[in-house]
Amino acid sequence: MILGFIEHDRGTLNKASLEMLTLARRLGSVEAVVIGRKGATITHELKQYGISKVHLVVHDQLDDYAPTAWAKSLTQLATSLQVEAILASGSERGNEVMAQAAAIMNLPLATNCVDVVLRESDYIVTRLRWGGSLVEEARLSGKPKLLSVAQHVFAAEETLSEDLVIVEQEVDLNDKDFRVRVTERVENESEGVSLTTARVIVSGGRGVGSSEGFDKLEELAQLIDGAVGCSRVVTNKGWRPHSDQVGQTGTRVAPDLYIACGISGAIQHWVGCKAAKKILVINTDAEAPIVQKADYVVIADLHEIVPAIIAAIRAL
Ligand SMILES: Cc1cc2nc3c(=O)[nH]c(=O)nc-3n(C[C@H](O)[C@H](O)[C@H](O)COP(=O)(O)OP(=O)(O)OC[C@H]3O[C@@H](n4cnc5c(N)ncnc54)[C@H](O)[C@@H]3O)c2cc1C
Repeated sequence: MILGFIEHDRGTLNKASLEMLTLARRLGSVEAVVIGRKGATITHELKQYGISKVHLVVHDQLDDYAPTAWAKSLTQLATSLQVEAILASGSERGNEVMAQAAAIMNLPLATNCVDVVLRESDYIVTRLRWGGSLVEEARLSGKPKLLSVAQHVFAAEETLSEDLVIVEQEVDLNDKDFRVRVTERVENESEGVSLTTARVIVSGGRGVGSSEGFDKLEELAQLIDGAVGCSRVVTNKGWRPHSDQVGQTGTRVAPDLYIACGISGAIQHWVGCKAAKKILVINTDAEAPIVQKADYVVIADLHEIVPAIIAAIRAL
């Protein structure tokens, strides 16, 4: 049996876990583990993704994220259920919890996998490294096999399960397991659509020129119900908060349309936006790396083109 670690934040499901289930189901029968009582709210949704049994780990202190405690819960459950493999999403939390689980179990972990083939008792995994610029094939052994699934590679394929059984599981944790935990939450000041769920992202780079330059990008994003993103140069300059940064050290996004304004498309940025279905680039330099990879290109000054797009949409 494969154990799929379903991530949630105080009862809000991380959809990347559903993508992970698509791969997990190809490897065998899958049961899900959800950590913390607040996770009970997401268990029923899992039925649509082929899950017929959810192990809900209950403990008074598990409602907020605590990577060691979550990992220890996962390993205790995996050991008692004698699972073949544990799969998680290759999200920040998924990879962090799995790394801790691997350390606790003294087993190897393959992160950010995009394919798995069974060979004898091992898995041959294909995994993304260096933010996706290198693809590695590796042999993963051990029991259970531990791996995370690269985000936005698999679709979250629906397949309705007939039944759903929820089994409450207790775990044995102590104070040391909560040395790293969430102690305070500061809500993001930005309003509107979030980067991870936006269908359209209007993203700006150095070419935008200033924090005020982003006003026009904001206006365009609002008109088309999109979110604003940016490159690292922009966050380094303090024009936008880090939460808006797209890329290897920012957020990886997968909108229907990514509009890159004044962004050169360095590999570290590209890995964060390449999962977009369509990419529109506005850039003065026809030789910029992102121009070669885009679906649509406008070679021009963004300060002329973005207001022109806004005017055209308003006219409609
Ligand atoms: C370990 C590491 C991690 C990193 N992580 C990230 C990351 O997560 N995200 C990220 O973005 N970067 C990341 N970087 C930085 C990355 O290497 C690039 O430096 C950065 O992405 C460049 O940002 P940019 O495209 O805005 O700027 P530039 O590369 O300077 O490009 C600016 C572009 O704007 C165009 N332009 C200028 N004026 C205009 C105008 N008026 N109209 C239209 N176009 C114009 C130019 O032609 C140019 O193509 C990382 C780097 C390292 C080393």
